[in-house]
Amino acid sequence: MTAYNFETSTPNTWCPGCGNFPLLNAVKAVLQEPGEGETPTPPENLVLVAGIGCHGKIVDYLNINSFYSIHGRVLPVATGIKLANPDLEVIGFAGDGDAYGEGLEHLIYAAKRNIDITVIIHNNRVYSLTTGQFSPTSPLGFPGRSTPAGSPEPPLNPLELLLASGATFLARGFSSQPEQMKQIIREAINHRGFALVDILQVCVTFFNLHQYYAERVYTVEDHDPADYFQALNKIREWDYGASPSGTSPGGASPGKANPGGEEKERIPLGILYKKEAPTFARRLSPAGGGNREEATRESRTAAKERQALIEKILAGSK
Ligand code: SF4
Repeated sequence: MTAYNFETSTPNTWCPGCGNFPLLNAVKAVLQEPGEGETPTPPENLVLVAGIGCHGKIVDYLNINSFYSIHGRVLPVATGIKLANPDLEVIGFAGDGDAYGEGLEHLIYAAKRNIDITVIIHNNRVYSLTTGQFSPTSPLGFPGRSTPAGSPEPPLNPLELLLASGATFLARGFSSQPEQMKQIIREAINHRGFALVDILQVCVTFFNLHQYYAERVYTVEDHDPADYFQALNKIREWDYGASPSGTSPGGASPGKANPGGEEKERIPLGILYKKEAPTFARRLSPAGGGNREEATRESRTAAKERQALIEKILAGSK
């Protein structure tokens, strides 16, 4: 079968060395070359949605139906497209400021509802299009344009928040590991339900963490992504602290001694959580897409898992 040609003639304006390049190539490869035994999604059934930021230009470089949304609104637009035409494969692209800042409430509700879309976060941990202000995942002490004395806020761990919100697929990749990015993105697109891939995307101009990540990332092994508590532990291994000097400005990672930065944090990559659950469309229209009793039963199981987690946390705090 001939691969679709998604090339465009739009001049690329990303900085040389930007982590957006390998991410673009990974997405293009996944959409052009389906996995073994899979048939490619016809281009007319693909829709891309981008937010505002350096990442947003990705839709200019892919010859696929796309929608430039406004800042923080990738999720409502992607959700609307999917609900209007469930046959479409909807992929959203957002930056960390876009998704974890301005659009955070939309992200939480998309995860909670288990909307059947894929969201890829270009997490460069800085507002790069506006030349380097701190973002929700910038480390404590980040000396950005708006915080020359250092950001006074600790970073958000978005994967922990989304796990608690009900996301059914959570993964992390690194822009300097293209093969793994491809594998993760392929699985995210194939997942039926809300899938989020947090890509540690290097911004060479305003927050170059390439070396920092290269020394710390590892691929999860012997990990059961269907196990909620294993996923939670993996997600908590790294709290998004970082400094190019090798220490976490916020101090030690949770549960890990890091006096003076002698012990480096470890950053797990791969599929951290994956669970089958009824999608929002199926719950909206069980007769058309599934069985209401089954959906209710699965919903109760998820509620029990959350309750068990709350009880475990409360027991540990006594
Ligand atoms: S400013 Fe950063 S994120 Fe934006 S294009 Fe340049 S390197 Fe990439």
